[in-house]
Amino acid sequence: MSDLRFKAVEEAMARKAVHIDIPSQRPETYYGSLVFNRQKMFEYLPKHTYDALVKAIDMKEPLPRDLADSVAAGMKRWAIDNGARHYTHWFHPLTDGTAEKHDAFIEHDGKGGVVEEFNGKLLVQQEPDASSFPNGGIRNTFEARGYSAWDISSPAFIVDQTLCIPTIFISYTGESLDYKTPLLRALNAVDRAGTKVAQLFDPAVKHVCSYLGWEQEYFLVDEALFAARPDLVLTGRTLMGHESAKNQQLEDHYFGSIPKRVEAFMLDLEIEAHRLGIPAKTRHNEVAPNQFELAPIFEEANLANDHNLLLMSLMTEVGRRHNFRVLFHEKPFAGINGSGKHNNWSLGTDTGTLLFAPGKTPAENLQFVTFVANTMAAVHRHNGLLKASIASATNAHRLGANEAPPAIISVFAGRQLSDLFTRIIDGDESLNFAGKEGVKIGVHQIPEIMVDNTDRNRTSPFAFTGNRFEFRAVGSSANCASALIALNAAVADQLEAFHNKVQKRISDGEDLNHAILSEVREILIESQNIHFDGNGYSDEWKAEAARRGLDCETSVPKIFDAYLRPESIEMFSRTGVFSSVELEARNEVKWEMYTKKVQIESRVLGDLALNHVLPVATRYQSILVDNLVKLRTLFPGKQGEKISAGDLDSIEKMAGHMTIIRDEVDKMIQARKEANQIKSEREKAIAYHDNVVPCMEAIRDHIDTLELMVDNEMWPLPKYRELLFIR
Ligand code: ADP
Ligand code: MG
Repeated sequence: MSDLRFKAVEEAMARKAVHIDIPSQRPETYYGSLVFNRQKMFEYLPKHTYDALVKAIDMKEPLPRDLADSVAAGMKRWAIDNGARHYTHWFHPLTDGTAEKHDAFIEHDGKGGVVEEFNGKLLVQQEPDASSFPNGGIRNTFEARGYSAWDISSPAFIVDQTLCIPTIFISYTGESLDYKTPLLRALNAVDRAGTKVAQLFDPAVKHVCSYLGWEQEYFLVDEALFAARPDLVLTGRTLMGHESAKNQQLEDHYFGSIPKRVEAFMLDLEIEAHRLGIPAKTRHNEVAPNQFELAPIFEEANLANDHNLLLMSLMTEVGRRHNFRVLFHEKPFAGINGSGKHNNWSLGTDTGTLLFAPGKTPAENLQFVTFVANTMAAVHRHNGLLKASIASATNAHRLGANEAPPAIISVFAGRQLSDLFTRIIDGDESLNFAGKEGVKIGVHQIPEIMVDNTDRNRTSPFAFTGNRFEFRAVGSSANCASALIALNAAVADQLEAFHNKVQKRISDGEDLNHAILSEVREILIESQNIHFDGNGYSDEWKAEAARRGLDCETSVPKIFDAYLRPESIEMFSRTGVFSSVELEARNEVKWEMYTKKVQIESRVLGDLALNHVLPVATRYQSILVDNLVKLRTLFPGKQGEKISAGDLDSIEKMAGHMTIIRDEVDKMIQARKEANQIKSEREKAIAYHDNVVPCMEAIRDHIDTLELMVDNEMWPLPKYRELLFIR
């Protein structure tokens, strides 16, 4: 009998909800208490420093260098008053998480002791070793210098007695080595271009801001069970495991009542998140057993993304206190839903207009449809790139499975918006520009759209949802920045082109509104192929999408190619988001990461198959053989053959599965060896995708069948039915 498995199950079953200290104050009294927000800045900084810092943040300008010391002094005082002993630059390297290196607030005092020390130089810039982070060959170990530099638009915060300063991370030669730098560049690009277009409607607009409201899905697994599954420990997902007889088919988990243990975890997490100024708002059970979701109120995209990353590490930490492991993997369990991170994305002006919210007046609706149409055009032109921005070795297991968006990007508009598009495209019928009534009448006919009237389509990877778009294809473990960089940059580039065309029409003598609407019509016609309101899960759509010329590639390493197509390189260079050197380096990192993830999984699976599953199956098989021999000895002839026929059948079937498992493991190892010889990262990743992954699938298939044949008591790993139902 497998002691480890049974002990783990027992331990998990006995677990009770962990008691948590609920603050006696209301959330608004402790919300943001660990954040150096404007209120703390006001309290801790000299008036002129405060004014200059706030102005720099609001105007998106750098902080004047001579004020850095003054800010640092105030920030340090606040941090120490709140128990901090260390400080760190906190950044997002091209790995799955964040990076930090802690330094204590101390310096020699020259008399054998130490004094508290933290100055403007340390606040503004530091020098982590760039060669130790993924850099796609930009940094060699012998030229390792890299810089982290303070991002004043995201406030510093305290975690575990450490003052964390959000920073960008770049190489000595200025290439970005992180997610934040290009995100800030893309946000600037969409600000610049969006402002120009928004000014066509309201000259008072000075800035356009991009918003993000992420919805984080995740699984919880009891710690003891997690520890008994080497595949979960090393890869974050189960590499084997037969479906549980009951999983999500009764649809009883979604929005169901939350188990007490989980509720305690969620509350604890929420309190911590609120202290860190993360506006966590919504929590609920998701579709699959043990699957949950947390969503905050949306925020400015850069801050929202910092908050998502911070929340993910907070979840891991708080989870441990509750004896849970949080799984962010997109597909931790086969056969049930995977986890995404829907990115609710919108644009808004500094004058308070949400640009994807239909308005009350025709003029507002013209602005609305302008921004919507431009977004559709950008998504159309760069659909392959947007898919590349969310593709990863892990998300590949989720996309295209029948509960997640397909590996084809399309835009869902909903009935009302679609009707409006049709009318605009049909032109003169409903929108009469000619004659004396002119533009006014035409524009007047754009109807008012009720925000609540937009439909839902869960099968669409990019859906209009009333006042925003929801990019649903983003993976739960991803850094949202990847998707937001591509999206904001593509939309910025499109808005810029749109603006130029409208200007051209105006200089050709067209009237402003007419010029805008004509251009909107043009781009709606051009990008019609991206618009799809039907069932994205269906096979007909796959065929139709191919006919429409949308990117239908499903191999992740090849999906990444979209970053290096001329139209992507040109778009990123026009918007100033990525140079071609950066794009090439990043793709190297993507291919390398893909290979490494598959390689690790393949090694773990090989080990589990050869050293956990096959020995147990052999032992059980030999029990059967033993029984068969004894039965035949006891009952010679026909009778013995008859009553041992079941054993014989099982022995033969098991032998068949075991042989295939052994053969496939050999084949897989051979495929790895061959792939490892390949120099090009792209070709190597393709070899892993084409030759290693299929072996893994076959091995799993046969192991899962064996799981149902071998004596339950002997099976070494916790089964799905044990992993998935928290009491
Ligand atoms: P649902 O699951 O119905 O899609 P949720 O309430 O779980 O919706 O999440 C919606 C997310 O979208 C929240 O984070 C919310 O703050 C965010 N959101 C709402 N309006 C906007 C907007 N205009 N721009 C960006 N995000 C938004
Ligand atoms: Mg949603």
